[in-house]
Amino acid sequence: MSDERNLQRRMEIVAEGFFHSALPLILVQPDGRILAASRGVCELVKLPWGRLVGNPVGALFVPALDVTDCRDHGVCNPEYMQLEIQTSEGALLPVEVVCRKFFAPDLGREGAGIPGTGDPADREPNHCLLYISDTRQRDHDDELRAARLAKLSLLNQVSEALYGANLTLDQVLEAVLICITAGQGLRFNRAFLLLVDEKSGLLKGELAIGPSNADEAARIWHDLAYQGGDLFSMMTSYDQSIKQTDVAVNEIVRHMVIPLDQESNVLVRSMQERQARRITPGMILPGVATIQSWLGYGEFAVAPLITRSGMLGAIIADNAISGNTITDLDLEFLQLFANQSASAIENSRLYTELEKRLIALRKAHEKQKEDQETLLRMERLSVMGETSAIVAHELRNPLVAIGGFARALVRNLDDDDPNHQYAAIITEEVGRMETIIHDLLDFIRPQKLLRKDVAIDQLAADTAARFREELEKKHIELELDCQAPGVLVSCNPGEIQQVLQNFLMNAIQVMADGGRLEVRTRLLDGGVKVEVCDTGPGFAKEVADKLFSPFFTTKPTGSGLGLTICSQIIKSHGGVAGARNRSRKGAGFSFILPLPKE
Ligand code: ADP
Repeated sequence: MSDERNLQRRMEIVAEGFFHSALPLILVQPDGRILAASRGVCELVKLPWGRLVGNPVGALFVPALDVTDCRDHGVCNPEYMQLEIQTSEGALLPVEVVCRKFFAPDLGREGAGIPGTGDPADREPNHCLLYISDTRQRDHDDELRAARLAKLSLLNQVSEALYGANLTLDQVLEAVLICITAGQGLRFNRAFLLLVDEKSGLLKGELAIGPSNADEAARIWHDLAYQGGDLFSMMTSYDQSIKQTDVAVNEIVRHMVIPLDQESNVLVRSMQERQARRITPGMILPGVATIQSWLGYGEFAVAPLITRSGMLGAIIADNAISGNTITDLDLEFLQLFANQSASAIENSRLYTELEKRLIALRKAHEKQKEDQETLLRMERLSVMGETSAIVAHELRNPLVAIGGFARALVRNLDDDDPNHQYAAIITEEVGRMETIIHDLLDFIRPQKLLRKDVAIDQLAADTAARFREELEKKHIELELDCQAPGVLVSCNPGEIQQVLQNFLMNAIQVMADGGRLEVRTRLLDGGVKVEVCDTGPGFAKEVADKLFSPFFTTKPTGSGLGLTICSQIIKSHGGVAGARNRSRKGAGFSFILPLPKE
């Protein structure tokens, strides 16, 4: 191909490009007539190319466009001209026109009816190129940009609030749904939140927000229109305005259950593909019909809640009340928002988990501290125990001597001697001290762990039999009511007998004028109970807690250690000792011993 042909071809391609451009462009001759117009201009004014070319460009605009300034000086005044362009249908469209000088030497001369000289000096800017922009489209784009910006700013605000505020998981879930439905938020009518339940392998409806009918919606949207735009004021308005009205949607959400193994289900797929979807009434996809029947509405959007650690759940949102279609922008922001929410939900869950662990750790720490304190107390008690054993031991011999001399004095002094009475008092007090020391040493003596299987009924009967003579003498009737025949208890029989003896002796002491003594055994669930009941006066309610405490006694010569030792013995067998006042008359002292587990 020759150079000339080559150039010709290139010019044809450029011209082709100009004619087919969607941008509205007009090339104007030096005489102000249209030399060429792009497809964009033809579409804007609804005229074929042939009807535009050759006509004065000025007449196309209102007010008429004058390109003289541009042609002569290279710029128009003003540079950006706000005009209206006339369409073939008689409409006037607002446009912005920018004019630029343009070199077209030969064409220019011929176009203007002046023959070209071919001299390079003729190559001056004699044509103009007009760029026209449809301001309606620009305004629409601006609106779209403003809407995007507002939504982005809300998203930013929400994510800051969701992360920064110390919200509970329930509050986070609520906040997510509020933002989807709030006027300042994504503006959906209703929103449903479904969460993955890993245990059951189900996606389950958890929470929903939205009015149940148009009247309610009108009232709420009117109420909310005056509220501030930040998350917290939205949540407060929600509490006041919407909370009572979302009964219907929450009834719906309770029915939403989808097995996660239904992989073709539109919700499960949306989660797996990590992609929000818009469903319209005509679409036939697995699961769509069920969701539509739950919603009672055909068009809805689904957005997955996904985090790095996995699938959390999904959001379903619709405009069932207003009937507005869901736009691309709505879907885009629902997805963006779902991503933010998923992280916030996960964070809140982790936070709650962390808090639980912290509480458990604190409890364990406190328990450890208590155990340490108990250990210290026990150490101190053990030291005290050893000391008292030594003191008791050291006191016993001098006491025996004092007691012996005092008794000798009582014997040797005449009854009317004033010292006789003193000696008698010394004898009595020394006797009391001897009892205390005897019981104290008994209490302190290390327990022997001699255990064998003992028939408890037999043990109880044998121990009671030892008191037969004394009972007869004191006119006390004995009743053996043993109902644990053949039951064997693993115990130290000597120690259990000691406990029973203590109970029996106390009972006999409180029935100085005779009465009735019952020895009972009963089989319980996992244990056996032995009780000694008397018909004495019982004990005062106020001392019930102290009966088993060391040194509690109401007897003039008592040590107050008998029941303490009993309780100690029973505890060392893994059982419990107790006391009660009987409903009619008297008291019952008992213990329960555990039976060996099968
Ligand atoms: P002591 O016999 O040296 O007083 P115990 O520890 O055996 O020591 O008994 C403590 C107290 O429990 C007695 O002083 C008495 O007040 C009360 N008590 C014990 N057995 C009975 C009973 N069968 N009826 C009423 N009170 C009792």
